[in-house]
Amino acid sequence: MSKICDVCGLPEELCACDDFAREVQAVKVFTVRRRFGKLMTIIEGIDEHEIDIKDLTKTLKAKCACGGTAKNGQIELQGDHKVRVKEVLSEMGFSSDNIEIRDSKKGGKKRR
Ligand SMILES: [Zn+2]
Repeated sequence: MSKICDVCGLPEELCACDDFAREVQAVKVFTVRRRFGKLMTIIEGIDEHEIDIKDLTKTLKAKCACGGTAKNGQIELQGDHKVRVKEVLSEMGFSSDNIEIRDSKKGGKKRR
């Protein structure tokens, strides 16, 4: 039995909503320092209604060879994987123009 898409009403094999959704997601990738100085990579801006965030987390964990979870619409990966995450998302059809890597370090203002 194939799933029917809520958006276009087509069976999943024929539906292109997901591809389109990936292209237009404005994704932010940044790292935060957690307790005990552990770095986490946070992926934010994924629309849970359009993207299977659990599945995406699984793929990212496999590609980055790290642990991680999806919660509150964010994906958290253990360690700093900002650059790799962008690569993987691009490979999956997310538009790299819409993936913003943010430097989360405070006080490190860059001037050009
Ligand atoms: Zn659809």
